[in-house]
Amino acid sequence: MTNTTFFIETYGCQMNKSRSEHIAQVMIQNGYQLIEDKKRADILLFNTCAVREHASEKAISNIQKTIKDLNKTSRYPIIVIFGCLSQFLKNRLVQRVPGAQIVIGTSNIDHIPQFIEEHTRKKKKILDFNLPSSSQVFDESGYLRNSSHISAYLPITYGCDNFCSYCVVPYTTGPQRSKPLRTILTDIEKIIQDGYKEIILLGQNVNSYGLDLDLKNGFEVLLQAIEQNFHNSSFWIRFLTSHPKDMRPSIVDIVKNSSIMAHYFHLPIQSGSDRILSAMNRGYTRDHYLKLAKYIRQNLPDSGIGTDMIVGFPGETERDFLDTLNIVQEVHFDQAYTYIYSSRSGTAAYQLPDHLPLAEKKKRLQFLNQTLSDIHQIKLSNWVGKKTKILIDQIEGMNSSGRTTDNQRIYLPNTNFILGQVISVVVIKTLKGKLYGELVLS
Ligand code: SF4
Repeated sequence: MTNTTFFIETYGCQMNKSRSEHIAQVMIQNGYQLIEDKKRADILLFNTCAVREHASEKAISNIQKTIKDLNKTSRYPIIVIFGCLSQFLKNRLVQRVPGAQIVIGTSNIDHIPQFIEEHTRKKKKILDFNLPSSSQVFDESGYLRNSSHISAYLPITYGCDNFCSYCVVPYTTGPQRSKPLRTILTDIEKIIQDGYKEIILLGQNVNSYGLDLDLKNGFEVLLQAIEQNFHNSSFWIRFLTSHPKDMRPSIVDIVKNSSIMAHYFHLPIQSGSDRILSAMNRGYTRDHYLKLAKYIRQNLPDSGIGTDMIVGFPGETERDFLDTLNIVQEVHFDQAYTYIYSSRSGTAAYQLPDHLPLAEKKKRLQFLNQTLSDIHQIKLSNWVGKKTKILIDQIEGMNSSGRTTDNQRIYLPNTNFILGQVISVVVIKTLKGKLYGELVLS
């Protein structure tokens, strides 16, 4: 055993956070000690993200500043940078952060303890930017806990084969690799033993789970295996993200017939215009999306549909933007995350002509958000008087709150509940964009 301490700083998505948890376990198994104080650590690990240019630049300047500040106090910890941004920038990142001793991409992160040992022994910089290959098995057990100890994020795939024209992820994570089914089932067992009440299966495109393992309709196989093994347990299963290209009615049917699967589908549309969807290389049409949404609404009327949307993609005309507004009116999304298109060098869309002025993109975003907010208000008022079940996951100040299976948050004006409890409530009012409820005893 060693007394050498380490600290991990993580940028980006839940998947990245989950990988940091995994790396922390690998480091601990190799005798290192995890600490919360960055200033005292002997090894600093930075798990980086490349999705947005602005956020990437901010991460680089944070790392530079951390090293500079530590060096001023005569501390010289070993600096390890890994993850999507190192994979994307490779030697350009090494040049910009000369104080880092180990810079590696997304592939060989399990070897970080060996890289540290090699660096310590040979006193040389270690660089490794091999992209994972499709034959490299993704068998990282472990999951990401949330602070309230209610929800656990469990990656089931890593990487992406889709190459949407605006996205860097396939370049930074390599091809999709699915975690073996038996590992996922063992992870779920562990999560339940640890007392979690909600498990969120994570992947860039969960619907294509198993394609790389030669499993036909692998996501259905996985969901059915989870149902068979755990249908008597008291927890909810969610999954993120569903890709409309690969989402199938059979997945909706499994959710419908399950007692543990939450009635919520995060199905990013990105644009309502066929012309823009094609330029984005999304692999589906507006009509295909509408048919999927209709199938969900008809077969699971109480389910929520969430989405992501990008405005101002290169060449997006007013007509294209109107198509996006129209699809918002047609689907009546229950949740939406909206973004202004931000161009990312190295992607196919970066080369496209007709980049819109920022002012126009902002105007469209504002318009879209207003339309979504108007619909949201109507949807909230429709909740008043409804009875539903919620999973209590927040107790703050004088209020408790929980989420319904379709991911709607409901607030309760008291704290006589326990985190993780599932209770029946009736919605009594909506106020300032929030729903308030009361406990129903029978
Ligand atoms: S599906 Fe498209 S947007 Fe999502 S990670 Fe893959 S390439 Fe990126």
